[in-house]
Amino acid sequence: MGHYIGLSDAEFKSALLKWRKPRDDFETLAITETIDPGTFSANSLVTPIVTSSVFILHGPAAKQQEHKGYHYGRCGNPTRNVFESAMARLDGAKHALAFSSGVAAISAVVQILSQGDHIIYVQCTNGDSDWLFRHKWKNFGIQVEFIYTCDPESIVRLIRPSTKMVWLETPANPTLALVDIGAVSSAVHSVRKDILITVDNTFMTPVLQRPLELGADVGIYSCTKYLCGHADVTMGCLTFNSDELFKKFQENQICMGVAHFLENHECVLKVIHPGLKSHPDHELALKQQYGHSGMVAFFVKGGLNEGNAFLDALKIFQRAPSLGSDVSLASLPSTASHSWLPEDERLKLGITENLVRLSVGLESADKLIQDLDQALYKALPPHIPNGFS
Ligand SMILES: *Cc1c(COP(=O)(O)O)cnc(C)c1O
Repeated sequence: MGHYIGLSDAEFKSALLKWRKPRDDFETLAITETIDPGTFSANSLVTPIVTSSVFILHGPAAKQQEHKGYHYGRCGNPTRNVFESAMARLDGAKHALAFSSGVAAISAVVQILSQGDHIIYVQCTNGDSDWLFRHKWKNFGIQVEFIYTCDPESIVRLIRPSTKMVWLETPANPTLALVDIGAVSSAVHSVRKDILITVDNTFMTPVLQRPLELGADVGIYSCTKYLCGHADVTMGCLTFNSDELFKKFQENQICMGVAHFLENHECVLKVIHPGLKSHPDHELALKQQYGHSGMVAFFVKGGLNEGNAFLDALKIFQRAPSLGSDVSLASLPSTASHSWLPEDERLKLGITENLVRLSVGLESADKLIQDLDQALYKALPPHIPNGFS
């Protein structure tokens, strides 16, 4: 195992001891499904996918109440309910609700607010959320206030009588900045208990971080990413009083190997990953997470041309605008997910044109490292003057 993360066995064991201690029964919870035997008739081992959008009523005509718990697909579906109860169980939540996408789940949270309500939005976040909060909610009279620090005291100072939510995403996309969920939750709740702390936990999934355990009120997931992990599902989910799905420890082992490799590469200016000691919130990651995600950001030497040349030269990493899939993906946030942000806002967040975002998948670490290495040297050939300045 140690070899994946570039550590000796002894170093790896001592690193494991530092992590937030996992719940003993987590693996069992992740595997055990709560199927009501009456719901599916054939006793199948794996949950059947029910595609029917309508369910037959029995009893006297037109009495919708007399059904087996399901009558219309949008209101409830047996497969969806199994997924939701699995999510609730894993995130330590009382409830989980599935949505048609991450954005639909985010919208459902904001839609409980009314005109004049105030949201404190802690930067930075994934491109879709950022766009919604910057441009969309104001059409409904919701006031979104952006803050560029995660410091709990600064967040508390922005609280007004109309404040209803504090919106967090940690690690943030694509800067991988961390927010101390526990510190922000307790600071805000000590002022007003009814302010909802919402945490977009898409990068981590309940396997690696469980916001409700740390004091947050709502966990938000784009299941399209790590929760699905195969890039063949679009789905979102909310957990309140907690929830989750599964991505393996193996993944962050692989990812850390890649991050260490990049940190020592002469074509790379700087690597950002909460698993690296150089990350400003490395200790916070150990305190509040159970592991790391496969998201890695780094600054390639040079600018947009070098960034593009690097992406074009990759052979295993695919250039695709998503993350959290079994296949490794790479993107330049300044020209993709965050391209619509005004330049000054982008730069304030540290999203420069040479910032590369990697979503490390399940391929072998050695092969991924070889791919990064050849692409970096192709983009920044050593003989080009100033190539390594
Ligand atoms: C992709 C993403 C979303 C949006 O989810 P969709 O499933 O694409 O609607 C929200 N939050 C984060 C952190 C994401 O990466």
